[in-house]
Amino acid sequence: MTDGRKAVCVIGWPIAHSRSPLIHNYWIRQHGLDAEYRREAVPPGEFEAFAARLREHGYIGANVTVPHKQAALAVASPDDRARAVGAANALWYDDGILRATNTDVEGFLANLDAATPGWDRGLESAIVLGAGGGARAVVFALLSRDVERVYVINRSPERAAALKKQFGARVQVARWEETTGLLGGAGLLVNATPLGMTGQPPLEINLRCPPSLVVADLVYDPLVTGLLAAARERGLRTADGLGMLLQQAVSGFELWFGIRPQVTAELRALVEGDLTKHLPPRPRDDVKQPAAPVKPRRNKLRGGGFSA
Ligand code: NAP
Repeated sequence: MTDGRKAVCVIGWPIAHSRSPLIHNYWIRQHGLDAEYRREAVPPGEFEAFAARLREHGYIGANVTVPHKQAALAVASPDDRARAVGAANALWYDDGILRATNTDVEGFLANLDAATPGWDRGLESAIVLGAGGGARAVVFALLSRDVERVYVINRSPERAAALKKQFGARVQVARWEETTGLLGGAGLLVNATPLGMTGQPPLEINLRCPPSLVVADLVYDPLVTGLLAAARERGLRTADGLGMLLQQAVSGFELWFGIRPQVTAELRALVEGDLTKHLPPRPRDDVKQPAAPVKPRRNKLRGGGFSA
């Protein structure tokens, strides 16, 4: 690093896949800053020592990603949100003190607000698949928007139960087999597992639901996951993982550089191009669907809603 030049990094293991440098270096160029955003591959067990000497490594701050998001809480002073979520993904210095926050919460909400405006109007219940760091940020975000009930469905039920214990009575634990039944009354479905991601098993779910259901996927590789493709085929409104990735980056950049950057169509196209460039061809049948599309019809049992 040259004198006066600011540097920020994303710390993870592995880290080569991270698109954060593409996003932040775009904003750095756009705003003409003398700065650089890099990747730091730091294995488990070495994160604490690395983060404790972040400044000596030349950094004014950092993003933290898998598998260090929980450990980031212990190496810095977390804000209330990071503490409540139980994970932090952004570190910055404030008067010499290393602080931590969780920007996935606002990234998730800002993406839904932009992609599916009005999604939370009168929303009574939401279904969240997963109980890891991403799911915890999503549940925290949904409760902050006054969603009355959040069903958490997870492979390991004890992790879903831990989430309920932390967030209280508005969170309910449900079983994987109950997903389709719950969809009939839910306004929002969120995939916060890696299922459907390139190299991971498909997400198998039957989207029998009212046409008002909004579907969000945290997975952004591929850009259009099987879940999103199936939802769009049914005419449902969707919010993708790339939108969340871009939105969660905004406040980190602002913390480090004092400028609130914009998520522009040009930036999105840049990251989309990079994701597509690195993707092998992939079939789009990774969500099991009924053989033929079924026309929505009025369901008297659900007070005028639709079922398919
Ligand atoms: P995490 O903390 O490791 O949690 C993973 C969750 O997925 C756990 O609940 C886990 O269940 C479940 N899971 C993993 N493999 C599974 C499988 N084969 N079958 C069923 N469930 C499975 O990961 P995370 O940080 O929450 O990330 C989850 C996904 O969200 C990743 O794809 C990540 O890239 C994405 N993400 C995206 C953004 C964004 O900005 N777009 C932000 C955060 C995360 P168990 O508890 O049973 O292990």
